[in-house]
Amino acid sequence: MGWVRHELKAVRDEWISPQVFEALFSDLVGQDGFSIGVVDVLPNSRGVVRLKSRDPTDVPLIDPQYFEDPADIKRLLKGIRAAQRIGAMASLRGFGSKPVIRQHPSCSDFPFNSDAYWECYIRHNARPASNFGGTCRMGSPSTNSTVVDTSLRLLGLQGIRVVDASIMPTPVSASPMAATVMIAEKAAVMMTQPSNAKSDH
Ligand SMILES: Cc1cc2nc3c(=O)[nH]c(=O)nc-3n(C[C@H](O)[C@H](O)[C@H](O)COP(=O)(O)OP(=O)(O)OC[C@H]3O[C@@H](n4cnc5c(N)ncnc54)[C@H](O)[C@@H]3O)c2cc1C
Repeated sequence: MGWVRHELKAVRDEWISPQVFEALFSDLVGQDGFSIGVVDVLPNSRGVVRLKSRDPTDVPLIDPQYFEDPADIKRLLKGIRAAQRIGAMASLRGFGSKPVIRQHPSCSDFPFNSDAYWECYIRHNARPASNFGGTCRMGSPSTNSTVVDTSLRLLGLQGIRVVDASIMPTPVSASPMAATVMIAEKAAVMMTQPSNAKSDH
């Protein structure tokens, strides 16, 4: 939940086209209010990262495949309904708040506030939370999607470990930086303890 006066500028700059910002929020700038952000911290959809070519300086092809699994849309819809219930509580209404009712310009075919409307809204307005991970998954060597073993050593190559958020087998249901620091601390111990260093390849 954040206060409109501060939040809106950031939203306008980064994620929303000027036309959509104009339709949804422009007259709210400078007013007090709150927004409730709904976040799907454990989405079912999985993206893919592929090499573009054999040239290591070429950027990889990244396809996040957001909403590839429709269950992710349904989960966010449930979150929107929960946010509406929270926003309607007497404790918040006590401040004189009322919901902002604006039709997203790309969803005008759907009755406002219907499930179909919000599903359209989610598809047009959802954004990533800058918490990427899991592209270089740690796991059992016998599993197809495994890239590093449980000592973070890259399977199939010698003398290389991956130590960052990419090794998370599943995303943490929170902001990932603290967990990433813990992965790095653990890796430092694994690499410096003589018993582990010996078994390194
Ligand atoms: C805008 C934004 C806001 C965020 N806010 C939060 C927050 O509030 N709380 C939170 O917990 N998390 C937050 N995160 C997420 C968090 O920053 C990341 O999950 C975390 O930094 C991931 O760590 P990492 O080591 O995996 O990757 P990075 O931090 O991206 O580090 C990768 C490092 O590898 C280096 N590198 C890249 N390629 C190579 C290469 N080929 N050879 C050698 N080095 C290379 C890069 O220079 C970089 O230093 C945010 C992320 C963003 C983008």
